[in-house]
Amino acid sequence: ANVPHSSKSSPDRAARGRLIVVSGPSGVGKSTVVSALAERHAFFFSISATTRAARPGETNGVEYFFLNPDAFERMRERGELLEWAEYSTHLYGTPRTPVLERVAAGDDVLLDIEVMGAMQVKGSYPEAITLFLTPPTVAELERRLRNRGDTSPADIDRRLAIAQWQLEVAEERFDHIVVNDSVEAAVERILRILEAPSTKADDDSPPH
Ligand code: 5GP
Repeated sequence: ANVPHSSKSSPDRAARGRLIVVSGPSGVGKSTVVSALAERHAFFFSISATTRAARPGETNGVEYFFLNPDAFERMRERGELLEWAEYSTHLYGTPRTPVLERVAAGDDVLLDIEVMGAMQVKGSYPEAITLFLTPPTVAELERRLRNRGDTSPADIDRRLAIAQWQLEVAEERFDHIVVNDSVEAAVERILRILEAPSTKADDDSPPH
């Protein structure tokens, strides 16, 4: 969830948009791939709520809604989150209403969320297209995380431990696995998935 809103809808599409979930281990390059993807396909980006602190350069309401734990808890209790998860000591969640409104309006909505949340979305919204972005190697993932410079060593270690588990379960739990060996190649693979007949929005299906 590191990119600003965009909300063009293509004229040739069905009434409902698609819910596209991009997940994958921390450091795999999700934000970069998702930003590059947005140059090629119009999406509405869901802005998540989180209890983690803003990093330098992040702005409340742009990359995330930065909430204190009480405010997050209130959203959760009111049922305002489509999914939520604890990740590396912080809470993250997807505000429900903007996502459902955009899908209903015909826009493809993209969620950049971790694996537990992706599974919740698939459970409650089976038509969601779930993509798992995977690094070429675990060593490459570790290198990227350590070079990022905005994450503490303890947090990096937690994120690497989580990544091990995510890579093990991804194959059976996601609709598509996409290797991020280069941004361009990953974007091409995702576009091909989104353009395949099985993942096209179905013009004849009734809204639900
Ligand atoms: P970061 O702290 O690096 O911005 O994000 C950490 C992880 O949380 C990333 O894998 C990111 O995709 C995930 N994430 C961001 N927003 C959400 C959300 O709303 N729900 C869930 N489940 N994960 C999220």
